[in-house]
Amino acid sequence: MASLADAGLKFTTLPHPAPASDETREAVLANPGFGTNFTDHMVVIEWTEGQGWHNATMGPREPIALDPAAAVLHYAQEIFEGLKAYKQADGSIALFRPKANAARFNRSAERLAMPTLPENLFVEAVERLVQIDRAWIPDAEGASLYLRPFMIATEAFLGVRPAKSYKFIVIASPAGNYFKSGAPAVSIWVSEYTRAAPGGTGAAKCGGNYAASLVPQGEAIDRGHDQVVFLDAAEHKWIEELGGMNLYFAFEDGTLLTPALTGTILAGITRDSLLTLAREEGLNVVEGRYSLEQWREDAASGKLVETFACGTAAVVTPVGKVSGRDVEFTIGSGGPGQLTQKLKNRLVAIQRGEAEDTHGWVHKI
Ligand code: PMP
Repeated sequence: MASLADAGLKFTTLPHPAPASDETREAVLANPGFGTNFTDHMVVIEWTEGQGWHNATMGPREPIALDPAAAVLHYAQEIFEGLKAYKQADGSIALFRPKANAARFNRSAERLAMPTLPENLFVEAVERLVQIDRAWIPDAEGASLYLRPFMIATEAFLGVRPAKSYKFIVIASPAGNYFKSGAPAVSIWVSEYTRAAPGGTGAAKCGGNYAASLVPQGEAIDRGHDQVVFLDAAEHKWIEELGGMNLYFAFEDGTLLTPALTGTILAGITRDSLLTLAREEGLNVVEGRYSLEQWREDAASGKLVETFACGTAAVVTPVGKVSGRDVEFTIGSGGPGQLTQKLKNRLVAIQRGEAEDTHGWVHKI
């Protein structure tokens, strides 16, 4: 893959005929919600076989024209990423580990038989969008600008093979608190459905994985829970992850366990960051296997003291209650635990530039 410089790719800025008024934007920023409001602009870069990446534009956010036979609409060749831009303590703006998102995007691309994107081009596209729409970054505590880079197969054809043309697009959405209730701890439902099987696409961030999780997630909501937890496909025994977050289990002896990356779960960037921070806290951090049965037993005996979920959207969220067809148990007091809070505070402080970034994670714009 040619580098950005080799490709000689230049961004063309298309004028915006009608950006949102200050009043409209201020109203959104006063109550951003999550995923329902969008900024003025978007980045689009095209790829076609033989030509590679070309035609990079920064323009108004608007509907995209697709042929009804576009491959993405039939065979779901689609991947995406999610990352946030934060206002820093000093007033500047920073992304958190965008190169890790770029690398994961390319791993997803390879699994879905799509072209990879030079990592610096991915990061530049995101940076440019944040810069042009910087007035859309909310100030409130816990708020940020959520960036959604994605790629779709645009070639018009019916037939199962990799498409010969794609669009890479980046949009942005001001974000407040992910969980509507702002609940201090979430309750989760153990799904009978499986999310990903060995050899499948569980480790890729492709839209199809999320389409398949809607029914299980709906079941969780219908039963009064916030999130769904998936077990492994082969034995339906081992804990994998939530619909959109990884899990950590904290034990009274100072061990912190997270399910290993066996190919069926997403390699979360928050998960990876917490591995490092927890080791620095002196915890015995283990990437391994943990069964639902053991989870229930350890919660009952008090051996397990905390469980938390982690991901870009909700950062770190304590898990209070777990229910399934044959199980129901509470972890600790059912509320946020000390370690969960400590790790969350450390990560958020780094993301917001309130603590020293000793790992080179904070990418200033
Ligand atoms: N698992 C799944 C299935 C996800 O969709 C996400 C969100 N990207 C995560 C875990 C957490 O990943 P990250 O920390 O990179 O947001």
